[in-house]
Amino acid sequence: MNETLRGLPAVHRLLDDPSIARYAQTLGPDAAKRAIGEALDLARASAPQPSSEQIRQMIRDALEHLRRETLVAAVNATGILLHTNLGRAPLSTQAREAASAIGAGYSNLEYDVERGARGSRYGHVRSLLCELSGAQDAVVVNNCAAAVFLAADTLGRGRETIVSRNQLIEIGGGFRLPDVLARSGSDLVEVGTTNKVRLRDFTRAFTPRTGLVLRSHPSNFSIQGFTEDVAPRELADACRSAGVVVFEDLGGGALVDLREYGLPRERTVPEAVADGADLVAFSGDKLLGGPQAGILVGSRAIISRLRANPLIRALRVDKQTLAALGETLRAYTSPERVKTLPLYRMLSIPMGEMRARAQRYVSALGAAARGIETTAYVGGGSLPQERLPSFGVAYRCARGPDAATAALRRGDPPIVARIEHGEVIVDLRTVAPEDDEIVIRALVQLT
Ligand SMILES: *Cc1c(COP(=O)(O)O)cnc(C)c1O
Repeated sequence: MNETLRGLPAVHRLLDDPSIARYAQTLGPDAAKRAIGEALDLARASAPQPSSEQIRQMIRDALEHLRRETLVAAVNATGILLHTNLGRAPLSTQAREAASAIGAGYSNLEYDVERGARGSRYGHVRSLLCELSGAQDAVVVNNCAAAVFLAADTLGRGRETIVSRNQLIEIGGGFRLPDVLARSGSDLVEVGTTNKVRLRDFTRAFTPRTGLVLRSHPSNFSIQGFTEDVAPRELADACRSAGVVVFEDLGGGALVDLREYGLPRERTVPEAVADGADLVAFSGDKLLGGPQAGILVGSRAIISRLRANPLIRALRVDKQTLAALGETLRAYTSPERVKTLPLYRMLSIPMGEMRARAQRYVSALGAAARGIETTAYVGGGSLPQERLPSFGVAYRCARGPDAATAALRRGDPPIVARIEHGEVIVDLRTVAPEDDEIVIRALVQLT
């Protein structure tokens, strides 16, 4: 007999249902009970009363919705290596383990174990950062946007900040340089034009109130055609003579020559330091391939001014970030170790390896799937237009591409794929090989 004829199913029976119990394990029994209670209330108020199976489905839908609200691991099949919405750079095993070990207990975060006294939170990564960048000193904050804000507030407050018009950018998420400078109480002085700026544009703008020259990497756009820019070293020399600080916001923060990875030349952190910038800012989770952080390296005098700004307390990084950052930086101490960073491993996957993996997908999926040459992107507000030859799987689903990608996104784990010409595209450059089985299974289930 249908159990709904005797009334609604009992809460404990629903909790014992394996398809519901699975959620209770991850979301906790209270979340499951709440979802069940809400579904039963809804069922009581509905006419005709939903069947027992319909009620179970309502509960599963509610729990599924809750599960997706929590932070869950996802499979990135988009081919965009530094996908900001998907958490940018994956951490190396070493970085992940360090973050987990330090996060799990007490540490010498701000404690000098030799002296048995208060120590510096920033000391742990400082010597590595100095060694790798060539700078005298370093400090780390929450992200590069915070680094820019701290620098503008420390060096520009009550003074003028010179920015050339070809670099007056909005970084993303409404973080606009003119607004950031206004917030930090600095007067923006624009020089040059959208496409051309020369050294004398800067030097003519120097006044006794000039606090700094801010140079920003044009992370998310490029200007083509008749363009002209100032050589960083010339600008640094002119600024030094005039007693003006040069602050360069590199954004991406590559420590290695990206040409080794088939990418175009990208200004590296050591180059910016060697060119004479007093202060250089970059992200931890872009081309560095580490945790979200904003790294500032520069002269001892400037870094100590940043450290003395009370704002730094509000922008400080946590212990797990510092642990992961330390291990990420350590990977750069030898060329072979750089590929322990997932970003650089993904950049180096040989085409043949991706082709072979695609073949496994095709074997499992049959005629609806084929291997396909794709284009991957570095992404993440760095090298926005840089195309990387890549390889993946094109899958034609009877349900249509929109329904198919939606089903993949709603899976466990969610899989984020692209659509091209009516086909679902799984770009294998960003899918970890150990996730291939999961993706294959999810695609098989679509059929
Ligand atoms: C990405 C970027 C930022 C912001 O970095 P977050 O770490 O995301 O805060 C700042 N400046 C430049 C030039 C960037 O490319």
